[in-house]
Amino acid sequence: MRLKRRNSTFQKIKEESGLEEGMIVDNEGKTKKILRDPRLRSDIVIIMSKPDITARDGEKHDVIIGKDEVANETTCNCFELLEGKDIRTHFLGRRDKISFYAWKMQMIRVEVVIREIAAGSCLKRNPTITEGTIFKPLVVELFFKNNKLRDPFMLWNTRKKVFEIYKPDQPITPASYIRDLLPNELSSRDDYILTLKEIEEIRATASRVFLILKEAWEELGLTLFDMKIEFGWSPKGELLLADVIDNDSWRLRKRTKVLDKDVYRDGSQSLKDVEENYVQVAELTKLFKKPPLV
Ligand code: C5P
Repeated sequence: MRLKRRNSTFQKIKEESGLEEGMIVDNEGKTKKILRDPRLRSDIVIIMSKPDITARDGEKHDVIIGKDEVANETTCNCFELLEGKDIRTHFLGRRDKISFYAWKMQMIRVEVVIREIAAGSCLKRNPTITEGTIFKPLVVELFFKNNKLRDPFMLWNTRKKVFEIYKPDQPITPASYIRDLLPNELSSRDDYILTLKEIEEIRATASRVFLILKEAWEELGLTLFDMKIEFGWSPKGELLLADVIDNDSWRLRKRTKVLDKDVYRDGSQSLKDVEENYVQVAELTKLFKKPPLV
């Protein structure tokens, strides 16, 4: 009887943390955890979604029961679609409702944003551009992942051969200039230095990723405005698409209806409506026409 009660307590802790015995938390962010299972190869991790939703660098925070499941479903469907279209990613396969297996990556500290329709922070940096302007070709922007500096905008200076970083919510002028980036700041290890060739590869792959997802959404009657993705180096040193791609990662609209995180950011919809949008988006990603994986 006692044992049973203790077991059920352990069961409860396990369920609450989402962790199985022996699993190690490698890293924990606002909306996901990176876990290692000592029973698996050491170069494989488990990426587990959390039910949290945050905005303004965590200033606004809520928990939506089940968001972890819909986030994982959305990410897995996106990665399966992209893998089927020959984009090389860290995704290895689904694990359970809230997690998937991936290569353990050396992440590049850059957020890559691809835009086809002007919205969000690009309007602040470019006040002469009106919301809804269509970019042809696509715009690919790089932001330095740095909480303290609020993810500044990266601008390549050809003469100096360095990235300069600027405040992301202001026009690019000497007044918004922060400083130059050192090449070794883009990864946590000094032996991993991002090359110019890799930056070009990231830009090209990012555009392809956007076009594949844009087409998949178009087939379902939705419009992808922009999205954010991240890259890293695999255990073999290959440059791969990494992180997650879920309804927090993009601006996605069905005619005038906003289905993405913007309605949470600006508080224009109730949490219940936000939840319904996320569920609807996850359900729709199940309809992506994925080529069979070989
Ligand atoms: O805010 P901004 O317009 O730069 O965002 C561009 C796109 O990148 C949006 O779809 C937004 O949801 C996404 N994004 C993100 N994570 C961030 C910043 C932006 O997913 N940290």
